[in-house]
This record gives sequence, structure tokens and C-alpha cells, in this order.
Amino acid sequence: MMTSQPAHHDALIVGGSFAGLSAALMLARARKRVLLIDGGQARNRFADHAHGLLGHDGKPPAQLLGEAIGQLLEYPNVELKIAYVRQAARWQGGFRLVLDEGAPVQGRTLVLATGMRDVLPPIPGVAERWGKSVLHCPYCHGYEVADRQLAVLANTPTSVHQAEMIPEWGPTTYFTQGRFEPSAEELRRLAALGVVIEREPVAGLEGEGTALSAAVLADGRRVAVQAMFTAPQLVLSSPLAEQLGCSLAEGPLGRYVQVDRIGATSVAGVFAAGDMSSAMSSAVMSVASGSMAGLAAHRALMAARMEGALG
Ligand SMILES: Cc1cc2nc3c(=O)[nH]c(=O)nc-3n(C[C@H](O)[C@H](O)[C@H](O)COP(=O)(O)OP(=O)(O)OC[C@H]3O[C@@H](n4cnc5c(N)ncnc54)[C@H](O)[C@@H]3O)c2cc1C
Repeated sequence: MMTSQPAHHDALIVGGSFAGLSAALMLARARKRVLLIDGGQARNRFADHAHGLLGHDGKPPAQLLGEAIGQLLEYPNVELKIAYVRQAARWQGGFRLVLDEGAPVQGRTLVLATGMRDVLPPIPGVAERWGKSVLHCPYCHGYEVADRQLAVLANTPTSVHQAEMIPEWGPTTYFTQGRFEPSAEELRRLAALGVVIEREPVAGLEGEGTALSAAVLADGRRVAVQAMFTAPQLVLSSPLAEQLGCSLAEGPLGRYVQVDRIGATSVAGVFAAGDMSSAMSSAVMSVASGSMAGLAAHRALMAARMEGALG
């Protein structure tokens, strides 16, 4: 697939958060010419602190990513462009990206690490509390809100599963929203865990600033809640994988890019990493899959070089 056509960069990486930075680090250390393009919208930017990353537990996300970028830019073969990639296409055996400003860029391999966008339940008070007192993942933020009055706001069929988990962190109310009614067996388990079931829909949230004190129900009642967990729908943050024809897989919260165990997509020369390539995600999982995709992209470059050398 790749030829010896001249390209400005060995590897193009789109997305400079946990996965993209990790891929870039591997390619930088393999002495490849790397161009990393990032729109600066890491998924956890709404949270004050990131948790669960060994050695970095509790750091603000911007600090964490800032330190990683600082280390990466010590490599003279890495260039970072703050821009948004509009379009990706094959070009002379490699790839060409059209940016929102400036000239198009070309490279021989492509790593996509553009993440997923959270589509939150359209309930007043949810969006402004996202990452603060309305949360997606108990492993990320449960410890900090433990033993308070907790809740699960049903939003997808996975919500019942979330309602079974949250009692690990504190007393839990499950708001079915009148749509995600547990089965008889699930009701039995939830009852055993002491979960209170509320079927009247939540119409809004109350609390000082980004804090939460109550869920306001459609019938006007208020239920005391200090932290609420919900599973958003996930959509690919950018259409680049679809533009290139990468196969997608169906996950419980949305479609993601199908990759093999080293991060190769269905399109030769295109690798994907991080949230966009997995049904299960976290910052540390994104670092791991980014590292793997970086290695795989390097292997593809090595193979192309070998082909060229052997004629
Ligand atoms: C509120 C919240 C809190 C979280 N807290 C934690 C936590 O404490 N611990 C944890 O392990 N996980 C946490 N997560 C999950 C974690 O944020 C993600 O798993 C992780 O950010 C995924 O990294 P990523 O590199 O795949 O993608 P993202 O972080 O989503 O980054 C994608 C990057 O690509 C860029 N991009 C997208 N499209 C383009 C384009 N076309 N051109 C250029 N750039 C583009 C974006 O601007 C962004 O910078 C949290 C998630 C949320 C929503």
C-alpha cells in the first residue's frame, strides 16, 4: 500500500489527548517524523481531577496532558499543530489531511485518536454539572463522592447495570425515567443492594453552582441527591474514520471504530486508538491502546521501507 513517494511526515496523528500523545511518543522514540494535530478538547476536560492513572492519580487533566506534551516536544522529530482536521483521504500511497486553516498536510501512515463525544440526557441542570456532580464512571470519581446520597439517571439499557454497581460507593436511587424498567430478576438484585427505584421522571437538577442537592421530579417532588451517575450516548468526535471507509462496530453506548489487537483499522495504513476504538474506555486504557497503535504504525513504516529496499 505505501510507496516511496515523498511525504512530509512519516506519521500523521489526529487527536492529541491520552491516546494520540501515547502513539506519538512511541513513534517519536522510533525516530519517525511525526505531525500531531489536535483540537484541544480532551473528553475529561470538564473534570477538575483525573483518577485511576498510576503515578498521576488526582492530577487536573490539563496539567497531566500539558506535562505529556512538554515531554513529547523535547523530541525534535515531533511537531504539534493546534488545528481541526476537516478531511482525510488517501494520497500518493499515504494520506492527506485538510485542516480548518493552513495548507493540507501529508504523511505515510495515519493514527486516528479523535475520541468520542458525550451526548448527555437533555435535562436542565445536567450539562452544567457534567464532570463535577453528574458523572459517568464510578472508578474515575466514585471514591470522592462515597457515602453521599447517590443516584443513577437511566439513559441507556446499560443503566440498570450501573445501578447495581453504584451501591459499592454509597446509598443509591435508580431513576428509571419511565423508560428503563429493570427486569424481575434485576429488581430482586437491586432490592438486595438497597437501591431505591423511582419511576417518576427527573425533570431538572438543583444545587449551588455545579454542586447537586436534589433531583426535581416531573410531579414536583424533590429527591435529595449529591452525586448522580449517568451513561451518555457516545458518538465519534470526528467523521475522519468514516471518510476513509474504516469499518465500525456497534457498542452498548454507540458506534466505534473496529480495530484488531494492535490498533489496525480495516483500512491499510490507518490505525485507531483510545475511546474511538473501544467499547470500554478510560484514560489509562487510551494510553495503552495509543502506545500499541504507535508501535503498529511504526511496524507498517518498517515493512514499507523493507519492501522499498528489496525493490
Ligand atoms: C467528565 C469525564 C471525566 C473523566 N474522568 C476520567 C478519569 O478520572 N479517569 C479516567 O481514566 N478516565 C476518565 N474519563 C475518560 C477519559 O476522559 C477518556 O477515556 C479519555 O479522555 C480518552 O482519550 P482519547 O485520547 O481517546 O480521546 P479524547 O480525550 O476524547 O481526546 C480526543 C482529542 O482529539 C481531538 N480531536 C477530535 N477530532 C479532531 C479533529 N478532527 N482534528 C483535530 N483534533 C481532533 C480533540 O480535540 C481531543 O483533544 C473521563 C471522561 C469524562 C467525560
